[in-house]
Amino acid sequence: MIKEYDFHCPHCNARLDTNGFIILKTKRENGDEGEIRMDANLGNYQYTHEPPVNFSAGELVDFICTSCNKSLNSDEFENYAKLKMQVDDKIVFDILFSRIAGIQKTYLITEDGIESYTGN
Ligand SMILES: [Zn+2]
Repeated sequence: MIKEYDFHCPHCNARLDTNGFIILKTKRENGDEGEIRMDANLGNYQYTHEPPVNFSAGELVDFICTSCNKSLNSDEFENYAKLKMQVDDKIVFDILFSRIAGIQKTYLITEDGIESYTGN
């Protein structure tokens, strides 16, 4: 089981987690913008959002880097956002998490293959 590691923007490499939470900007389908704090433990789908919102089930949310303001949406998998997960100085994995509200899926892409984490 992977423990807690550092999460970075794939564009500017800024560290996006602090105190066990990944903090990202969000943009909803209706254009509303906000900030989400997601638990940095894989498979834990607790989050808080400022301002408080109830995402509609199935809504596709844009996730945006708080440092460079670039979209974190994956080019290869349009329903997923991508971050870099730094394991140590040399090892960096890609992590993909669902952009669809209510779909709790995360994929960790390692040299050994793909691990998936699904929420309840
Ligand atoms: Zn960035």
